[in-house]
Amino acid sequence: MAVTNVTMEVVQSEYESLRDSFPRFCGCDTCRGDVLVFALNRLSPHYVSTRQGEILTELSLHSDQEKAKLDVALLEGFRKVALAPRCGAKPTQL
Ligand SMILES: [Zn+2]
Repeated sequence: MAVTNVTMEVVQSEYESLRDSFPRFCGCDTCRGDVLVFALNRLSPHYVSTRQGEILTELSLHSDQEKAKLDVALLEGFRKVALAPRCGAKPTQL
């Protein structure tokens, strides 16, 4: 058995879909990591145990409210990181 944080899985997949809405966002590994860390530090982890190699097909969180909180945290992360990218990219207002 392996332990997975579903919140982290969902944040990562939401990052990918939201990222398309911000073509001016740098999106390098540093900026991506900073957005994920920013969001994850503001959200509660939700752990599940999975058999090794099992693919998490059900990535949804319990409620729309949790999903909304997750998107809010991610969007705030995008804005913060875009204003001061640590990678040296030009600061951008999203
Ligand atoms: Zn960057």
